Amino acid sequence: MAHPDDAEFSAGGTLARWSREGARIAYCVATDGDKGTSDPGRDPRVVAEERIAEQRAAARVLGVEEVLFLGHPDGVLQPSLELRRDIVRVIRLVRPEAVLTSDPTRRFGPGYINHPDHRAAGEVALDAVYPSARDPLVFPELVEEGLAPHRVTQVFLANPAEATCLVDISGTLERKLEALRQHRSQVTEDRLREMVPRRAAEVGAPHGLAAAEAFHHIRLG
Ligand SMILES: [Zn+2]
Repeated sequence: MAHPDDAEFSAGGTLARWSREGARIAYCVATDGDKGTSDPGRDPRVVAEERIAEQRAAARVLGVEEVLFLGHPDGVLQPSLELRRDIVRVIRLVRPEAVLTSDPTRRFGPGYINHPDHRAAGEVALDAVYPSARDPLVFPELVEEGLAPHRVTQVFLANPAEATCLVDISGTLERKLEALRQHRSQVTEDRLREMVPRRAAEVGAPHGLAAAEAFHHIRLG
């Protein structure tokens, strides 16, 4: 994901279910969220420290075992080869069955423009999954670091332009809220209570679920 809090907002209920059901989860966060303030007088390094701590606290609430930050610049994240190499390094290190990232094709919706960092992170994560993490001759320096190629077999795109997979989060909505609550610098309790359950209900309602998160699911052969 691009920022601290993206995983919780877009998939917190699903991640809580996965960890409850025994999955091991690692986060890879492209930026430190150092531009995540409306106060022009704040030092971005201090903002970053705060947001890194918030992200680690939220991860603990969801049972996420490991949080890796790539330290790319917030607000101006680019779909660069440097970012791709960094994500491939994490994929080869963690060796996940599934990767969950942002849908890079989601450009805008009613009353909403997707953050360019989210698109960049999703685009590069997909490129990293296929083919770069799999192919030994791409980024040969990673093989020299001892990181063998790895095949990811499932991808979940959060905040999808076209949903193909719905996860029932009625049993973990409260845990998602508790994780989001850790991002004190970003959200107020009132806004959380108003926004998150309403969104989960909207996603679930057409399918008879009280609360859900939507994804575009890709199964790789
Ligand atoms: Zn974000």
